Amino acid sequence: MAAIPPGSTIGILGGGQLGRMLALAAARLGYHCHIYAPEADPPAAEVAAQFTRGDYTDAAAMAAFAQSCAVVTYEFENIPFDPVAALAKLVPVRPGTEALRISQDRLFEKDFCSARGIGTAPYRAVANVADLCAAATAIGLPLVLKTRRMGYDGKGQAKIGHVDDVPAAFAALKSDALIAEGFVRFHRELSVVLARGTDGSIVSWGPVENIHRNHILWRTHAPARIEPALAAEAERIARELAEGLDYVGVLAVELFDCGDHVLVNEMAPRVHNSGHWTMDAALTSQFEQHIRAICGLPLGDGGRLCDAVMENLVGDEIDAWPALLAEPNARLHLYGKSEARPGRKMGHVNRLYPPGRAPDPEVS
Ligand code: AMP
Repeated sequence: MAAIPPGSTIGILGGGQLGRMLALAAARLGYHCHIYAPEADPPAAEVAAQFTRGDYTDAAAMAAFAQSCAVVTYEFENIPFDPVAALAKLVPVRPGTEALRISQDRLFEKDFCSARGIGTAPYRAVANVADLCAAATAIGLPLVLKTRRMGYDGKGQAKIGHVDDVPAAFAALKSDALIAEGFVRFHRELSVVLARGTDGSIVSWGPVENIHRNHILWRTHAPARIEPALAAEAERIARELAEGLDYVGVLAVELFDCGDHVLVNEMAPRVHNSGHWTMDAALTSQFEQHIRAICGLPLGDGGRLCDAVMENLVGDEIDAWPALLAEPNARLHLYGKSEARPGRKMGHVNRLYPPGRAPDPEVS
């Protein structure tokens, strides 16, 4: 497969901060980016060569966009599937549509893992209250009820601690496309972010530990402080998923550390918030690596230069930017969003430490 050389145009579906950081990394390698997004003034457009404002369902605008690009990628997985599949007939779309189809649906994701003997929380598809009662009997309580599609940052989820909660939980989500999962009593949450090239080579940054606040990722500690055997298991699983999907690009796999084993929670077919630390603390960042992968270039070295703690700046936390700029070991990244609404990711800071010197996740 011929490489797409620097100077070519990369299309990015979606205009958020992930698209912005992809466009910046692409520009550094001499590529031009064309952003396609429905918003008027998305953060990615500000740093890209071209921007088309359009709905993903506008077939004519999407076809014109495809014409201008040597390859197309996407920065979020909740993009309407059919328009992306139509686009893939006109221009290479990487990661491919099969990875998108599976990662758009929590049930497909878990079935994909189960078929490979990869552990997940016990789960059942739920279309109605009777299914939910049956799931509670089969799996036991507590349960987490989730929408199969379009959930993010804990949205579209309800915990069920008692059978009496079943009707209210079902009414809260009210959909015939739900999944009930057994509640996992995990020690910590991990993710493995890796890249797979068009030649099948894989470069991983290794497992990191993720800490959430109000269901939004707050901090990522790199590396995760886990036993080498558990780290190897998490890594093996992420590689197996990437190979099973014949994946091209950066893939993030979120896992629960259950002490002596790990379970897959979900995967994201894109660059991931828990990989932002690589911008300052790895030889090749996840953004550069994704561009390399989708353009068919050799992957870069994923080696860690130092330990890092990434912290998201959510809502008005961005107001701390002067103090953050003054921290000697901190590297600040702001997304250029005009309005700091509660819950909105406005930027992140990477704090860098010599190996073994980062604060413990428990006390930081
Ligand atoms: P998700 O949208 O699936 O990533 O879920 C958001 C968060 O809810 C996760 O990061 C976990 O903290 C928690 N969570 C999700 N599923 C489960 C589960 N089956 N058991 C326990 N906690 C869960």
